Parts: sequence; C-alpha cells; structure tokens
Amino acid sequence: MQMTETGFFEWQSRFQTEDDCLRYLQNLKWPNGFICPQCGHSHAHFIQTRHLYQCSSCQHQTSVRAGTLFHRSHLSLQKWFWAIYFTGSDKNSISAVRLSKLIEVNWRTARLMLKKLRQAMGHKDSLHMLKGVIEVDDTLVSGKRSGHHGRRAADKASILITCEGKENQADYIAMKAVTNIRHGTVSSVVKKQVFDHQKAQGDVLPTLDVINKTHDHEVRVPPSGKVNEWPLWAHIATGNLKAFLLGTFHGVSGKYLQEYLDEFCYRYNRRFFEQEIPDRLLNLAVIRTP
Ligand SMILES: [Zn+2]
Repeated sequence: MQMTETGFFEWQSRFQTEDDCLRYLQNLKWPNGFICPQCGHSHAHFIQTRHLYQCSSCQHQTSVRAGTLFHRSHLSLQKWFWAIYFTGSDKNSISAVRLSKLIEVNWRTARLMLKKLRQAMGHKDSLHMLKGVIEVDDTLVSGKRSGHHGRRAADKASILITCEGKENQADYIAMKAVTNIRHGTVSSVVKKQVFDHQKAQGDVLPTLDVINKTHDHEVRVPPSGKVNEWPLWAHIATGNLKAFLLGTFHGVSGKYLQEYLDEFCYRYNRRFFEQEIPDRLLNLAVIRTP
C-alpha cells in the first residue's frame, strides 16, 4: 500500500467532515465495493437510520466500523482520525491529558484511545520475526529513574530487548516488559520474536545462555572500558527508550509499561519513515486490528 507523508494541513483537508472519514474507511475496508463478512455477497441495502449495511443475500447487518479499531466506539470518526494524527505525528508521543484537550474528550476516553492505538502498534510489530544477527539484552526502568544492571531494585521493571542488525546498526527492535529475567521468561520471549537458529549475541548475563537451545548464542565480551555500552545496538535503543519515557511521560508505572514499549518500538522501527506514521497508523486501525 502506498503511504503518504502527511502534514497538518493535508490531514485537515482530507478529513474535514465525518463523511470524509467514513468514505476513507469504506474505501480501505471494501476497496472493490461491499463484501458481506458472513457470506461474501457483494450487494447490500444501507439502513440510513442505524448506519448499517444489510446483506441482500443472508440479511446479515454490518457497519463500516465493524472489525476496525473504532468498532463499538461512540466517538466520531473525526475525533479518532485526529487522535491518530496527533499520536502519529509527535515523535515524543502524546500524553492522555494533552490528547483529551486537543480532541475535546475526557481524560479516561483519551487514555483508552491511546491504549487501543498502542496495542495495534504492538500487534503489528509482533508479527515481525527477527532474523540474522540478533542482540539480546535486558534493562531496568522505573517511574523516576532508570538504570542498567541494578537488578535488585524493587521499584524497577525489567525489559528484555531483542534487536535485529543490518549493515552494522540496529534495524528492527522488540521490547518486552517481563516480571523477571529467568530462563523460562527469556526463552519464551526470544522464541516468540526471533526465528530459530539465528545467531544471538548477548552480554555475559548467564540467564541468556538459555537461548542456546534454540539459537546460536554467542557471548560477546565487551571491550575494556565499554562494559556499560554493550551490546551496542541494544544499548543505543535503550538510551533512546529512557529519554522517550522520561521526556513525555515522566516515568511509567509497570501496568502501562508494555503499551509505551509498543509505541516506542513501532516508532523506532519506522524512524526512516517518520512522516508516514499517521497514515500507517490509520491503515493499521482499519485493516490490521488485533
Ligand atoms: Zn451475507
């Protein structure tokens, strides 16, 4: 699908009315005209009062919103589309408080919208399996401060990072908030995110040895004086993550951490197409919902 770089005025002119949004949604969902999700029939009768399509063959009723991120939401599509624009276009992301003011909804609603959008980002990236040379690392973050290898700190949350390299730099990353860095956890995260038998490089943390069973784990000994910067790609990504969490959210509590990681990774993995993120996110909300 062709993605466009979208600025504020362009978005505004594309989606001026609720009908503009509806038409956009309809074209994405049924590019070749209506298709009944129940029987595949291509003709329907539109029930104006309820905004529903009734299949002419099996009488099944469906809406343009069904199966999209906006399903069962009472908010206008315009509010949703603007939420997507503001979320997608701000590289430091947006807080629920700010979004609630911009699109005039209450904080709880804005919070829920962001949650759904971030889940869609996480779902999309979870479909990408890492391959080639992979770095595996862990880090700790907390609400106020964050650090590496201080594993016993009580108020900190652990994150397992897997990172695919390309041309000597990080290409694609995945981050998972985990309750511990034990064998079972590491093994299950790596299995879900990395193809079997890839070359996995990690630091000397013994727990990472567990990936030997399914992957070719190579312990890399850091050059002297560089212990805290190793493995390199994962550490660069971790540094960016910590700036992202502190800058926008002033720290994050454990229960929301995975959502923020999903957004961070989604952006990081598309950092060379930053301008396309609002458009990509809109497509994600319509055709690739979890
Ligand atoms: Zn039908």
